[in-house]
Amino acid sequence: MKLYNTLTRTKDEFKPRFENKVSMYTCGPTVYHYAHIGNLRSYIMEDVLEKYFRYVGYDVTRVMNITDVGHLSSDGDTGDDKMLKGAKREHKTVMEIAKFYTDAFFADCAKLNIKTPEVVEPATSCIDEFIRVITSLIEKGYAYEAGGNIYFDTSKLDKYYVFNDFTEEDLAVGVREGVEEDSNKKNKADFVLWFTKSKFDDQELKWDSPWGVGYPGWHIECSCISMKNLGEYLDIHCGGIDNAFPHHTNEIAQSEAYLGHEWCNYWFHVHHLNTTGGKMSKSKGEFLTVSLLEEKGYNPLVYRFFCLQSHYRKSLVFSYENLDNAAVAYNKLAAKVATLFDNSAVDKAAFDSLKAGFTEAMDNDLNTALAVTAVYDVLKADTTNATKLALIEDFDKVLSIGLVDAAKKLAESNSSANDDIPEEITKLIEERKEARKAKNFALADEIRDKIAEMGYVITETREGTKVTKK
Ligand code: AMP
Ligand code: ZN
Repeated sequence: MKLYNTLTRTKDEFKPRFENKVSMYTCGPTVYHYAHIGNLRSYIMEDVLEKYFRYVGYDVTRVMNITDVGHLSSDGDTGDDKMLKGAKREHKTVMEIAKFYTDAFFADCAKLNIKTPEVVEPATSCIDEFIRVITSLIEKGYAYEAGGNIYFDTSKLDKYYVFNDFTEEDLAVGVREGVEEDSNKKNKADFVLWFTKSKFDDQELKWDSPWGVGYPGWHIECSCISMKNLGEYLDIHCGGIDNAFPHHTNEIAQSEAYLGHEWCNYWFHVHHLNTTGGKMSKSKGEFLTVSLLEEKGYNPLVYRFFCLQSHYRKSLVFSYENLDNAAVAYNKLAAKVATLFDNSAVDKAAFDSLKAGFTEAMDNDLNTALAVTAVYDVLKADTTNATKLALIEDFDKVLSIGLVDAAKKLAESNSSANDDIPEEITKLIEERKEARKAKNFALADEIRDKIAEMGYVITETREGTKVTKK
């Protein structure tokens, strides 16, 4: 299997260190707010990667942190702590906010068929571990105290900027807005391992440490949580592309300085989901969450399908028009799958040859767009329905778009759909159809929202628009 490795800047043959065992680490969410669907694009593609590893026979242990302390407004160690901002916004404690949004994150993941990693560890449960590693970094001469904080000294490394093929755009994402210079730093790239002095001194969560009462920086948590659970060697580390710099660059710096050897062989980065207006944001424009999509009548798995139709290394533009197209395609697929239930037998030779199309796509840097094409190839193939159904179910161990379930539901709803629909709703559906024809998608969206408010959900199917009561 070939995977693009941000570290080597090539598609490398994936080979774990220990035979068929894969250790995998994923940067988890900062639980100060709901995840937006951009965040979830990263988790969907990482889920596909994990499931594909399992599909080809690897025994995977996956670890994820929950960032509940230390992630400041800017990734460059400045600004308010994001958790504190969330707590202030909602007049709750930081721990209440963390609990609420951690649960909300996993609820969204469940709706998107994203499996929960074997180990999920909040940063606040590993403070002793952070202190132990920071102490060792100071002893080894890689960290220093200045102005009350502990900093990592990047000048001690032969090479700090390990991922240096970024485009201007990627680096701009990493640095983010509002970065201020910290005069305590010896070198511009140095970063905070432990804060005791911050101009935001109302930080709610603080712990005793050899350097005074304070709290950890964001970067140290992922290194420590990974090493604690997966040991000194990590096979693959994942995250969104904005995390490559400075977050992952800092993780590598401190982990390798601490361990005294190379740490992680493969770096998998998912490119961003953007809106037509640019970067996705939790504060500007419409806050795109899974719940919002559901309120608008979309099946969350249609969003997963939409993500799979594009390669993870390309940025993807979200619009309702694009999502509607994905919904139509998804429903057409489900309708086709609904015709496959019969008493035929699986043809093993046809199964193997069609499966090869799927694995070939996935082996080539997780090309999910081509893997989706393999689903279409199965449906068009000249073989028994049982073979097709078995293949769709087999691919779904990785794709997890639930086509068989959707096919079953469709068959049920087809028999009850469009019964007892009030005339007012039927009229609105007609108006929406006209608006879509005229490419007035804003109006079409408005009408769909109105229909949803009135308690009805519309879905696009091959047979036309179906409407059901919520
Ligand atoms: P955060 O909760 O901000 O720590 O981010 C959670 C994950 O989402 C990280 O892996 C980020 O790199 C990733 N991420 C942030 N914004 C986007 C986006 N627009 N598209 C895809 N992934 C993103
Ligand atoms: Zn991380």
